[in-house]
Amino acid sequence: MNGKIAVLALQGDFAAHGRRLREIGLDSFEARKPEQLERAAGLVVPGGESTTLWKFFESAPWEDAIRRFAATGRPVLGTCAGAIVLAREVTHPSQKGMGLLDVTVERNAYGRQIDSFVGEVDAPEFGKTLPAVFIRAPRIRRVGPGVEVLATRGGEPVLVRQENVFAATFHPELTSDTTVHELAFGARRLAQRTA
Ligand code: GLN
Repeated sequence: MNGKIAVLALQGDFAAHGRRLREIGLDSFEARKPEQLERAAGLVVPGGESTTLWKFFESAPWEDAIRRFAATGRPVLGTCAGAIVLAREVTHPSQKGMGLLDVTVERNAYGRQIDSFVGEVDAPEFGKTLPAVFIRAPRIRRVGPGVEVLATRGGEPVLVRQENVFAATFHPELTSDTTVHELAFGARRLAQRTA
């Protein structure tokens, strides 16, 4: 891939994404202004707190910049709170979603007692399970017809893709497994298979 991947650096754990991208040979930069997306080859919307992300999005034309970016077909990866802001419908509590991914997500959906945990997710496409860190994670409660499920946990989708928009309810950047970043931005693109 030519050019650098923009990692949205408004809040949350953006630095770890840069490290994972570097490990698969991709350069990234921390985007702090919407206009920086214009020259990016891909975009990561990291985890953190989706309500806080929306506050930033409302203080500058981020929503427009992200929508325009996604419309060009360049890859977008949202993780956890990043997945929440990209979703069509957001519940518990309900909040705005950009609708770039036709899913319904329920926020903080694992309950208080197990709100954060490390586990494995099933990814048959890759012939293996992937390690996954869930931190006050959402659950994907509905998947639209154009959405492909790439990994599951207990039969529920945890990694999905709609064309060039990928979303994980977990934090792939917090483990040493780079599969999700490779899938979104690197050699493991599945674009040809479903195009
Ligand atoms: N609970 C957060 C939210 O609802 C997401 C947590 C995360 O990104 N790790 O936005």
